[in-house]
Amino acid sequence: MSLNLHMSANPGVSPDRRVSLGHGRPLVAIPGPSVIPDRVLNAMHRAMPNIYEGALVELSTGILNEISTIPRTSGHGFIAITNGHGAWDMALSNTLSRGDKVLVLESGRFAIGWGEAATVSGVEVEVLHAPPRRAVDPAAVEERLRADKAHTIKAILVVQIDTASSVFNDIAAIRRAIDAAGHPALYMVDCIASLGCVPYEMDAWGVDVTVGGSQKGLMVPPGLGFTWAGDKAMEAHKSAGLRSSYWDWTKRITGESHYWRYHGTPPISHLYGLREALDMIAEEGMENIWARHAVFASAVRAAIETWAAPNGLEFNVTDPAARADSVTTLLTGSIDPARLRQICDQQAGLTVGLGIGNEGGSFRIGHMGHLSPPMILGTLGTIEAALTAMGAPMGGSGIAAASARIAAAMQG
Ligand SMILES: *Cc1c(COP(=O)(O)O)cnc(C)c1O
Repeated sequence: MSLNLHMSANPGVSPDRRVSLGHGRPLVAIPGPSVIPDRVLNAMHRAMPNIYEGALVELSTGILNEISTIPRTSGHGFIAITNGHGAWDMALSNTLSRGDKVLVLESGRFAIGWGEAATVSGVEVEVLHAPPRRAVDPAAVEERLRADKAHTIKAILVVQIDTASSVFNDIAAIRRAIDAAGHPALYMVDCIASLGCVPYEMDAWGVDVTVGGSQKGLMVPPGLGFTWAGDKAMEAHKSAGLRSSYWDWTKRITGESHYWRYHGTPPISHLYGLREALDMIAEEGMENIWARHAVFASAVRAAIETWAAPNGLEFNVTDPAARADSVTTLLTGSIDPARLRQICDQQAGLTVGLGIGNEGGSFRIGHMGHLSPPMILGTLGTIEAALTAMGAPMGGSGIAAASARIAAAMQG
């Protein structure tokens, strides 16, 4: 059958027909895994090399020497074949002993998850809750630590960006609170959803252990877990009773051959991908990456501010200063978030994130990593179209506001 292009409209094709519109490249706008650059994917597609000597060992040694520049530390960086949950375990097992007590600073589901991992390992966990939908309050941390006169708390666990609530915590301010209380506990920070998205200064902020993962701001498929350890953490490591063969930092540093840097066969394809991602980060410049994330986050927030309506959407995080630049959680009021996600996914090729651990309905927009204005505006425009199709209560169209924020960062 051929189309008669001379007719005023294609016969039988009405723009009102309900069809799936999502036939271009699908877009996944969940808070990890993020969009992986084609450059990284292509770099990973290669035959397996000699793992004992030659180019791979050189590539890997270069990466291990360079990886500590990402969280800005002069401490050791470790790369393991694992996901973020494994990296949590690597941090805990290398520094703590059964029966030790840790203080988890909760501001969403992810800090709780890290604490649960510690509990399973026989660590006693106390949770200091932030007020609902708010960031960790440094003053509350100081007060709790001052009360711990015997210094029974061995470590403080916090998440820089909690990917469930989309709370952004002030890591430097929490350090100042720990110092003000004169408390010696190790300070451990999960940056899985924030490294390569927002400023982070491990050494300048006095962080002892940083935890990362490959698949969010670092633009590499899931499969690599990172820990970075400062001097104080390496000292605690010497007497850590939870040390286990696979995660052990000492073996990974001193093991007699390169093979032990990964406690076994290296994650070859991922290392090629990571090399490419580190090159892309260096080409763009970390400060520029942070600025780009700030612009896109501001565009997302501008759209939401306009969409917000009684019984409709609202920010999960109430304090504007505590809203993350890599992920935004929205509460959905009377709007069915499952239906919204379904319309976006099945009719438009856009996957937005499930809400997790929030009161009532919610969903999440991931805005981390390898993103451009067409991707951000496309995501927001598609969500807006789905809300419109659903007849959702909306304060107005957010697209102009989002586009204005992007325009403000452009040179005319
Ligand atoms: C994604 C994420 C995790 C868990 O990572 P997995 O790779 O899914 O195990 C932990 N913490 C934060 C803050 C995260 O964003």
